[in-house]
Amino acid sequence: MTLKPVWQNYINGRFVDGGAGLLDVDNPGTGEILAQQAIADAADVYMAVSAARQCHQSGVLSDLRPVERSRMVRKMGQYFLDHIDEIARVLTLEAGKPLWEAHIEVEGAARYFEYYGNQAETVEGRSIPLGKDYFDFTVYEPRGVSAQIIPWNYPLEMTARGIAAALATANTVVIKTPELDPLSNYYFAKAAEMASFPDGAVNIICGYGHEAGAALCAHKGVDQIVFTGSVPTGIAIATAAAQNIVPCILELGGKSAAIVHADADLDKVLDDVRWGIYFNAGQVCSAMSRMIIHEDVHDEMVDRVADLAKGLSVGPGLDRPEFGPNMGAMVSKKQRDRAANLCAQAQTEGAQIAAGGHKLNIPGHFLEPTVLTNITRDMNIAQEEIFGPVLSVMKFKSDQDAIDIANDSEYGLVGGVFTQDIDRAMQMARQVQAGQIYINEWYAGGVETPFGGYKNSGYGREKGREALWNYVQTKNIGIRLK
Ligand code: NAD
Repeated sequence: MTLKPVWQNYINGRFVDGGAGLLDVDNPGTGEILAQQAIADAADVYMAVSAARQCHQSGVLSDLRPVERSRMVRKMGQYFLDHIDEIARVLTLEAGKPLWEAHIEVEGAARYFEYYGNQAETVEGRSIPLGKDYFDFTVYEPRGVSAQIIPWNYPLEMTARGIAAALATANTVVIKTPELDPLSNYYFAKAAEMASFPDGAVNIICGYGHEAGAALCAHKGVDQIVFTGSVPTGIAIATAAAQNIVPCILELGGKSAAIVHADADLDKVLDDVRWGIYFNAGQVCSAMSRMIIHEDVHDEMVDRVADLAKGLSVGPGLDRPEFGPNMGAMVSKKQRDRAANLCAQAQTEGAQIAAGGHKLNIPGHFLEPTVLTNITRDMNIAQEEIFGPVLSVMKFKSDQDAIDIANDSEYGLVGGVFTQDIDRAMQMARQVQAGQIYINEWYAGGVETPFGGYKNSGYGREKGREALWNYVQTKNIGIRLK
């Protein structure tokens, strides 16, 4: 399959060029230009928002019986499964991840449509007793136009997560796709068409963050904003939302810690390190970027983790079709160089490299799977989100030590505890300041479980039933009876 050379935006049911021209999208696995993407300007953003507003105000989605929307949303997911080979290939080419990881992402995207499609029929109000003279009840209404700013690390899953919940609750959406890997988002437009969503219900535009992204977030026709990405951009978006008094959901990354006790099943922990920090080349907001290991098993665990990192074969994603000990490219040269520089800086602060730490001397944006030890809390590497395949290892003596180290971060997205002692695990789970705690399995959970941060990791929750309430507003209707 050859990739088409130019990929368009999708506004009001039509594929269109962008007012800001074309952007080269590169292949992180080779460093070569892959295709060009249409770039929206402010006028395109206005067209997309007004199409979404019109569709919302027409009632064409909200008037449906929920089971109808449920079926349409689930059909979108089926589209992704039916075209998984094609979509996964495009995703691998533009994002650099191994083909098997891209397949997992496409399946993950489809799963959001299945889950939120099924939830469409469960959004029900309640009646509130006010005595014999009244009948009072609540209804949930869609917010209206949902603007969603998508990051590049999981372009499909992040879009699916927001679109599926928004459409299930009868909102319309304008998606601003990431500049680095916007191509695969094209398939949401195709899926929406196939599922018979009306024109304007789903709009997919790419554009620069400071132009199209900022114009979208500042637009008065937007009723709610969903954002995943960096803290500075999150602040800019929250500020824009505040100007228009609209809610926003912010998911802003982390510096999440796994606490490994001496009685932990170390084989299991090792498997979780493989997924926790080397899946998607560590470009995961909930990555296991810190590991806090009890002093009794610290040295043994470091040796084993270093061997694991050294054993991963790193190279272009298309050459890695099957699950195995391998890892792909980072998304861009800039992200790769930033991570490599942070590793070099850590060494000057006293960190030791147990594995990796360097760029690969081949075309493409590759960084060796890295393990850094001898890390202390005051080092930059212990605090700054690296967003790459870099594990920072720290040592602890007492439970309180481990909690203090884990909580010594501006972030609070997720945390993990590995121990055979469930009482100790529960004690620690209560004390770690994070929105999601994994006990004895990193990433335990799924589409069904609420996800979001404490502290600078953001506010609001994605996934699970909680996310549905982002997309509706409560209306109370009170009736005075005779
Ligand atoms: P970013 O936050 O700048 O970009 C994310 C998205 O926001 C992109 O779609 C971008 O176009 C858009 N954007 C940028 N400025 C905007 C604005 N003013 N208004 C509206 N939208 C805007 O992130 P980045 O520059 O791609 O990556 C930098 C760092 O962010 C990474 O190193 C990583 O630490 C973090 N990050 C976190 C996540 C996550 O999942 N939490 C995802 C991507 C990046």
